[in-house]
Amino acid sequence: MAYEENFHQTSEAKYDCLLFDIDDTLYPLSSGLAMEVKKNIQEYMTQKLGIEEDKVQELCLSLYKIYGTTMAGLKAVGYDFDYDDFHRFVHGRLPYTTLKRDPILRNIILSLPIRKVVFTNADKAHAAKVIARLGLEDCFERIICFETLNPITKTESPVDTNTREIFDIISYIANPNPSIELPETPVICKPSEGAFEQVFKMANINPKKTLFFDDSIRNIQTGKRVDLHTVWVGASHREEGVDIALEHIHNIHEALPELWEADKAEEIRSRQKVAIETIA
Ligand SMILES: [Mg+2]
Repeated sequence: MAYEENFHQTSEAKYDCLLFDIDDTLYPLSSGLAMEVKKNIQEYMTQKLGIEEDKVQELCLSLYKIYGTTMAGLKAVGYDFDYDDFHRFVHGRLPYTTLKRDPILRNIILSLPIRKVVFTNADKAHAAKVIARLGLEDCFERIICFETLNPITKTESPVDTNTREIFDIISYIANPNPSIELPETPVICKPSEGAFEQVFKMANINPKKTLFFDDSIRNIQTGKRVDLHTVWVGASHREEGVDIALEHIHNIHEALPELWEADKAEEIRSRQKVAIETIA
């Protein structure tokens, strides 16, 4: 009995899944891509949505803070635009050549004998391009992206667009009125808890046995609330909701030796299986 308990403890892996964000997580913020994304979003807001240039920065930040992504916020306050058009404009012109193949990360990911799933707010085309540039095409079981959680891209009729009022969120923040409810966004994305729950169902993930890697503290803190073990990437210190802070994704080895313990446990299991089969 004592032996069985002992064996059970060593063979039971703490984690059975790794859940990764992409941008500024699988590659460092220093690549400069995030700055370009921000610039393109602001250009979209002025050029395509007709927002005044001097209001764009503040609006962008407010929407991002409240709704998780600027796009989710723009939809919530009443702007009508096509998701694909937004993504093409924001991601289509990015200097992807700044991203280089990362054989070190590839080897680390492939050496782990547990499931790896990607969960990004970005669109499918962007996710695929970044993963290909990094040389990680065969590293993940599944990529959950914007289109996975938001499959309907239907836009409303032009009549609706013309008559629709835009909720003035900047005035609301300056002068919050408790009797006015903030409009909801139709976009499902991190850091909403609902988005995480949906991902768990879709990919059959048990959050209690999953390590979640993300560079956004808000995503990490929501992740913690929905029972994930959290790794804050690009950070040198821990904060509330952070289990492990990793300055660079390459440091997984040092920060999480138990992942390789899982590797050993798997080895023990398969060796035992072979022994039993041989005896039989
Ligand atoms: Mg990110």
